[in-house]
Amino acid sequence: TPLNAIYGFAQLLEKDPDLAPWRVSITSIRRSSEHLAGLIDGLLDISRIEAGRLEIARDKVNLRSLLRQTASIFEAEAREKGIRFSWTTHGRLPALVGTDEKRLRQIIINLLSNALRYTEKGQVDLDLTYRNEVAVITVRDTGIGIAPENFARIWRPFERVSRSDRQGSGLGLTITKLLVEIMGGEIELDSTPGKGSTFSVRMMLPSISTSVFDTKNMNKSVQQPSLVGYRGPRKTVLVVDDDINHLALTDQFLSSLGFVVLVAASTELAEQMLSEATPDLIVLDIDLPDRDGWSFAEDLRSGDFPNIPIIVISGHADEEGMTGSKLALHDAFLAKPFNLDDLLMQVAELLKVTLILKSEEEAEKPAPPDLTEADRTDLLESAALGHAAGVRALLDKLRIENRGAASLLDLLEKRLDRFDMAGIVEAVEATRHGVE
Ligand code: ADP
Repeated sequence: TPLNAIYGFAQLLEKDPDLAPWRVSITSIRRSSEHLAGLIDGLLDISRIEAGRLEIARDKVNLRSLLRQTASIFEAEAREKGIRFSWTTHGRLPALVGTDEKRLRQIIINLLSNALRYTEKGQVDLDLTYRNEVAVITVRDTGIGIAPENFARIWRPFERVSRSDRQGSGLGLTITKLLVEIMGGEIELDSTPGKGSTFSVRMMLPSISTSVFDTKNMNKSVQQPSLVGYRGPRKTVLVVDDDINHLALTDQFLSSLGFVVLVAASTELAEQMLSEATPDLIVLDIDLPDRDGWSFAEDLRSGDFPNIPIIVISGHADEEGMTGSKLALHDAFLAKPFNLDDLLMQVAELLKVTLILKSEEEAEKPAPPDLTEADRTDLLESAALGHAAGVRALLDKLRIENRGAASLLDLLEKRLDRFDMAGIVEAVEATRHGVE
């Protein structure tokens, strides 16, 4: 807190025209407080990790989006310095992996920021290779490099081996290594002074690509689950494709599932639509006659739509193998002809919506209600409080006292298992209104 005051007021004073004669001193106060704040943050991180107080989350992470977002932080800086910067992936990335998104991003940010700080010319590359649930993230630069006798030192707090004209606390790699280790991974360094450095992080990133379905309810023998819709707010998808048949097919398919679908047979039409509506996702055929789809994607990304997920469709399956800047332009890739369910999976994953299986929908229709009003009130109250044990006890009571249709109780239990309190409220309310 006291440091925030120093830092905050220094910034204000720095801008005050009356204080022009003191500008240099004030800037020095501002920079020093910035540096100190960075040090304190770093030390707090380290002490939290060492005290075992840093909780590791298990988020559902789209690796491609994470890489794209993280890389974009450094793109401008690299360009300013005239350094080529690219990111690539190898291997088939699962749509989602379970890991701590914030920490994984911090690891990559720390390595990239070092790579750029210690590189004068040449290039910096970020690569992610995924195989058998193991990811290897490599940050390679053509910078000043590190002498072998310093390999061990740099991981320790406050150890710095480079010239002191570069800003830094000497804590970045200490934190990075600790984070990698508590996430169950390992980090390695390979470097040649004057040539550059390569930092490689290896860690297990288990894929959870089937999570768009409620797997517990999935009948394993069913090869082609039939899907009837998705949960959550309505999402809008813009489909750009010059092939009218294809456009109609995608439109029909996605509309039937409850998506709002905008269709454009050319990039020109698409642009017109984008000036009036902002879709949640874009499905883009890149083999367009009027214009290269990639350059259109590039315009979207660098223009008003940097964050809308783009699914690229192409007649050329080998496009998937490409590297470099093109990869940053899309979040998923499908080769024509593609399976509509595959498209739906990608859409669901990128939009983070849960798909509803036909069997599930049937189960969700409660049998004629025979709960008493008091049962409903009790259930709604416990659910609203998020009191899972309370809901469980009430459900047990209903089973014992033989009230409530079995299909309703099954449904409530299912939702309780995934702590879907809103779903419980919804289902109980539905019995009140006699909704079938
Ligand atoms: P900082 O960069 O803030 O000094 P770090 O813990 O991130 O602290 O790095 C420790 C030291 O390791 C740096 O001072 C630098 O000497 C060296 N180092 C880290 N990354 C690189 C790199 N990509 N190229 C050359 N030297 C590096």
